Amino acid sequence: MPAAERELLHTFLRAFQAKSVPNVLVVSADNHDQFTQAVESVNVTTVQNLKEFEAKAEAATGEFDGVVVSNALVSNNTVSDPQHLASFVQAALRVLRVGGVLIVREDLSQVKDRNAVAKVTNFFDVYRTTVDKENVGFDFYAVQSLDSSVYAKQNWLDFVWTLKKKTFPAADGQSDIVTFRDFLDKTQYTDTGIFSYEWIFGAGFISPGGAQENLKFLEKLHIKPGQRMLDVGAGIGGNAHQVATEYGGCVTGVDLSSNMLAIALDRAHDAKDTRIQYLITDVLKYDFPAETFDIVYSRDCIQHIDDTKSMFQRYFKWLKPGGKVLITMYAKGSGEFTAEFAEYVKQRQYHLKSLKEFTDFAKSAGFADVRGEDMTPRFAAILHQEIANAEKNKTDFLKKFTEETYNGLLTGWNAKLGHIDAKNHCWTMVEAVKPQ
Ligand code: SAM
Repeated sequence: MPAAERELLHTFLRAFQAKSVPNVLVVSADNHDQFTQAVESVNVTTVQNLKEFEAKAEAATGEFDGVVVSNALVSNNTVSDPQHLASFVQAALRVLRVGGVLIVREDLSQVKDRNAVAKVTNFFDVYRTTVDKENVGFDFYAVQSLDSSVYAKQNWLDFVWTLKKKTFPAADGQSDIVTFRDFLDKTQYTDTGIFSYEWIFGAGFISPGGAQENLKFLEKLHIKPGQRMLDVGAGIGGNAHQVATEYGGCVTGVDLSSNMLAIALDRAHDAKDTRIQYLITDVLKYDFPAETFDIVYSRDCIQHIDDTKSMFQRYFKWLKPGGKVLITMYAKGSGEFTAEFAEYVKQRQYHLKSLKEFTDFAKSAGFADVRGEDMTPRFAAILHQEIANAEKNKTDFLKKFTEETYNGLLTGWNAKLGHIDAKNHCWTMVEAVKPQ
């Protein structure tokens, strides 16, 4: 069986966490005989194209446990047409039982719009419809590049989405934000948000001090060539690039914002560095095999994460014995929250904890040599530096963004300095080791 199909099959079976799947529908213009033979299934049905698929969906509502779609959307221009995409998702939601899995493999490398992966992911994640009087949609698990395409063809844009049909409460009509991924992409991490942040933080980074500051953290890890790092909240990929080019490390970057990772994937596709791979997923949802990584690294992501306990437990499982974790994050200080800071935290949906709470979570997950550091004075110095740089280069900023975006950034940066003075806003680091 060709490697790409083997991988597709593996992804499919992993989504079920079971050896056999009773009823599978395969939608593919390619020859998928080998694929269908390899599924230990009692019943595999194959259709050649989307038209046949939609007809099947009308006739066989809720009859399938799994649907595998391989290179059927791009060839029909479905990925770039919201109406076609809606018909496809509607058919998939109709033909699957609740809990059934949809696997979609599409090579987007020939699609002009490099943001296509973000748009399609968004579509799959937020689409809701009524089937048999139930409000249903897909629970988004992950989208990742096919390993075989990355290694054999230097193609990072050949994707596999894993989605599970789920019932959802009917929308309350109060908000147009459907999921947390949708929230990240529609609020803080819109394309303008991301690129203006990158302008102020420095190329490749959405975190204080940019590339230079990141190198200082990486220096602590003594990364050896070939070591495997999980980068949690990889953003637009500055760290992954640095780890690969400066240390020869191999990085798997995960991020829940599809806008962020669409940029990282686009840059990886141009850079052709096979030491770097990305997945759009929630780090609290995706499961890697135990003892996969030498290092778990995360820069300024986990203020977005509520369940810090489960997060550290996952990192512990995924690390090899002797593996290291290094995390920097926004944290809460000793001062009582001002109304302004409370509002900022609420708007961002941050889950701020104290440095002690972070180190306690790391210890209770089993980590040893847990060390926490309050880096807030350094944070304040970086903020001053970034403000001065923005003021000096305002003309350049205004060539790319609006005055309103400039004012918004500077107001935000100055407000952070106020929150630091009020002992509300901290910047912290936790380092720890998984015992041998
Ligand atoms: N680490 C990058 C850097 O230093 O440039 C990006 C930092 S940015 C401030 C935080 C990132 O965490 C965002 O890209 C966001 O989408 C991601 N993130 C938030 N919650 C996440 C989750 N549950 N799983 C994966 N990534 C998440």
